[in-house]
Amino acid sequence: MTQTLPSPVARTPARRPLIDPFGRAVTYLRISVTDRCDLRCRYCMAEDMTFLPRKDLLSLEELTHVANAFIDRGVTKIRITGGEPLHRRGIISLMDTLGSRMGPAPDQGLEELTLTTNATRLDEFAQDLVGAGVRRVNVSLDTLRSDRFHHITRRGDLSKVIRGLDAAKAAGLRVKINTVALRGVNDDEVDELMAWCGERGFDLTFIETMPLGAVDDDRVDRYMPLTEVRDRLARHWTLTDSAHRTGGPARYMDCAQTGTRLGFITPLSHNFCEGCNRVRLTCTGTLYLCLGQDDSADLRAVLRSPEGRANPKAALDEALDEAIGRKPEGHDFIIDREHAGPAVARHMSTTGG
Ligand code: SAM
Ligand code: SF4
Repeated sequence: MTQTLPSPVARTPARRPLIDPFGRAVTYLRISVTDRCDLRCRYCMAEDMTFLPRKDLLSLEELTHVANAFIDRGVTKIRITGGEPLHRRGIISLMDTLGSRMGPAPDQGLEELTLTTNATRLDEFAQDLVGAGVRRVNVSLDTLRSDRFHHITRRGDLSKVIRGLDAAKAAGLRVKINTVALRGVNDDEVDELMAWCGERGFDLTFIETMPLGAVDDDRVDRYMPLTEVRDRLARHWTLTDSAHRTGGPARYMDCAQTGTRLGFITPLSHNFCEGCNRVRLTCTGTLYLCLGQDDSADLRAVLRSPEGRANPKAALDEALDEAIGRKPEGHDFIIDREHAGPAVARHMSTTGG
């Protein structure tokens, strides 16, 4: 059923930027639209995850209010994530509404609307995403082997993901594959992944496993610094540093043989906080100011307060100033035997990857 969402009219003409105490402008918002997922990746979730009651989730209308408040304050890039965002009911109507804010500031102001997905439903939605203004998607895929995929995700069917990727390509979406490097699980596949992505024109980014939320797997054994992945790849591929940036934390190299990009997200082996321009909204409206710290602001309480109900824009504006004024300088993730537990209790599926 299509819902009517707040209209994208009547914007503040001049966008007062959100600047944190370290002089960094917040221009990038990640929104987790659900904590639910059809998969149970071992590094991300426990097998018997308890999901949130639906009443705790922000409605599509509330999500739109928050996104608009951020765009009005200088956010130019929004990434929709989860859980699995394509499993949130009404996701395309939300994407359409957010997409209507794409265009030059001050009237619209959003330069990029994008999505991170496991692609199990991408074949259904690729064309609609393009219609909403999405131009590129990140797809998480840690292996090209069906049995391994089923093992890592504890239930997934690789063929669905491949169908989703084919549909994305056919719809004209640019695709970046995100692969979590897992020692003893997929570290023997890095060259294969590079070749496979290269053949399809997909960029590929490796991610270090991060200590977020309790999972059943052993993170210390699985953790693999990406310097090792890069050294392995450099034996077969000609890689040169690239100046390319996407607004996210990845650092890129160009691959001469494939003509595609190879990215590395290294929250552990290199601190990636220095140029941080991001904040994250959970599906319950908690705004996390840093992926690896607990500082947060409860925007659902703001939206559901009498002031928020009367004038969501004004109430959110004030709340954003207060929250960004508390953005911490960075996180301090460590994974070793002494620090085998999570750095923060919430899972990536809650905060949104
Ligand atoms: N379900 C979607 C997907 O898998 O693309 C979006 C949400 S998922 C939480 C976003 C990203 O976070 C995925 O690329 C996943 O591999 C990554 N991720 C999840 N838990 C992680 C962890 N503990 N360390 C590093 N990356 C993680
Ligand atoms: Fe689901 Fe994405 Fe987490 Fe895998 S990484 S369990 S697909 S939310």
